[in-house]
Amino acid sequence: MRIVCNVITLLAIGAGLALSAPAHAQDKLATVASFSILGDFVKNVGGDRIAVTTLVGPNGDAHVYEPTPADAKALNTAKVVFINGLGFEGWMDRLVRASGSKATVVTASQGVTPIAFAGEEEDDHAKGKKHAHEEHEHGQDPHAFQSIANVKLYVGNIRDALIAADPAGKDVYEANATAYTAKLDALDGEVKAAIQAIPEGQRKIITSHDAFGYFGKAYGFAFIAPQDISTESEASAKDVARLIRQIKADKVKAVFVENITDRRLIDRIAKETGAVVGGELYSDALSPPDGPAATYIDMFHHNIKTLSAALSS
Ligand SMILES: [Zn+2]
Repeated sequence: MRIVCNVITLLAIGAGLALSAPAHAQDKLATVASFSILGDFVKNVGGDRIAVTTLVGPNGDAHVYEPTPADAKALNTAKVVFINGLGFEGWMDRLVRASGSKATVVTASQGVTPIAFAGEEEDDHAKGKKHAHEEHEHGQDPHAFQSIANVKLYVGNIRDALIAADPAGKDVYEANATAYTAKLDALDGEVKAAIQAIPEGQRKIITSHDAFGYFGKAYGFAFIAPQDISTESEASAKDVARLIRQIKADKVKAVFVENITDRRLIDRIAKETGAVVGGELYSDALSPPDGPAATYIDMFHHNIKTLSAALSS
């Protein structure tokens, strides 16, 4: 009798485990995220129920990424593929098609109000001066993830897509999304408080490419860059010269290098204008796990700390 009871107990424990979470990697919902920041959002919402493969890794530049055969393989076995959209990863459509993937492709930025990328529109920081980008094509700025309010929309889209692909996990995905959104709200409060300490006239920042338009809009910063919203084309000599004139005229204190781009142009601009290099900002990718921006929340903390240190004095 005792043996029978033990067997029943074991069966019950086994059933309990099966209900709580898939036990093996092959039981997890296979997902792909196009780049590291998005991969972090997907991990936070999916938790233990999913496996995430990130294509463009730490410090990687998604604008000019060249996919690998391993990427095609990951897409082929994925059930859900998350992309940023807004033209951020232009190589992705072709890669998905070429891989033969049957995955649902989810645009995580769905619902975001895009910032139109057009030179004249951003003239508030330039006070009538010609903007460095006026000769570039008009388009949409893809870096919507640099606004925490936008990321809350990403999280909702990710949650809904995971529920659609794995309805049994609904409660888990909803709870994870709610918990992560609460952390994002706390982060947003911290960022706003930190920015209050930076004198308003100094909330003006130069980076190598225009990745901080949404950040600037959300938090009252002007970001100016010699390269436009993509890193695909190099900044022209004319754009750089114009930017240097603007930095001098506006008495901009600091310029910043980015983790995904070559720092030489920023170093040169610093040298020619007398602005200091204020540190490294994480724009389009996280750092490796042992770096200062291993998660989106760490990335925001790092960027705010870097901006405050360079601009508050
Ligand atoms: Zn970018």
